[in-house]
Amino acid sequence: MKLILLGAPGAGKGTQAEIICNKLNIPTISTGNILREAIKNKTERGVMAKSFMDAGKLVPDEVVVGIVSERLTADDCKNGFILDGMPRTVAQAKALDDMGVQIDMVISIEVDDSAIERRMSGRRVCEACGSSYHIEHKQPKAEGVCDSCGGKLVLRADDAPETVRDRLRVYHEQTEPLVEFYNAKGILKAIAGDDGIDATTRRVFEALGV
Ligand code: AMP
Repeated sequence: MKLILLGAPGAGKGTQAEIICNKLNIPTISTGNILREAIKNKTERGVMAKSFMDAGKLVPDEVVVGIVSERLTADDCKNGFILDGMPRTVAQAKALDDMGVQIDMVISIEVDDSAIERRMSGRRVCEACGSSYHIEHKQPKAEGVCDSCGGKLVLRADDAPETVRDRLRVYHEQTEPLVEFYNAKGILKAIAGDDGIDATTRRVFEALGV
């Protein structure tokens, strides 16, 4: 299963990707997590990406296309993968086509902007492994500590309300056209993502037929 998760920032792509990853035993490739790791390690790529990310803008296409094309050659991607947060522009989707990547399904998780803005203020991420939590909807077992790796849970800098509004604008302008792009290829499934994690997971599994 080669799967793309589409949706606005905070729609629940990362959360659903973790669940699907465990169910289908295929890796999640999150360009956001890879970029945050690069920033933490102060790599050349990280230093370059930071200013775009802090401002809620997209990192240039060639950077993320480079990251994903490298990552897809790894052994663990042979039986499939979940792309979380890539593609985010039509140019990135075309780059995947040019690489010969045959996507089986694109699930678009739909949540309206006002719900996203409310949601983002409660989101916390593990600074070590990138797992995501929510102070109301997905609490860790111990407050402030990642269940998976014991890392510290922090508020992402780009989850600040004014940056969230910029990210939503970028989503509508640059990423949402991908819904039509993949619909035209006949591989798009749009599902509601506004009523809780479990209900969304049920719809995701139904779309996947698992
Ligand atoms: P995310 O964790 O998916 O919300 O991504 C956080 C930030 O990383 C985005 O706001 C962008 O600045 C950058 N980013 C992640 N994936 C991409 C992508 N496919 N194209 C461009 N920028 C990206």
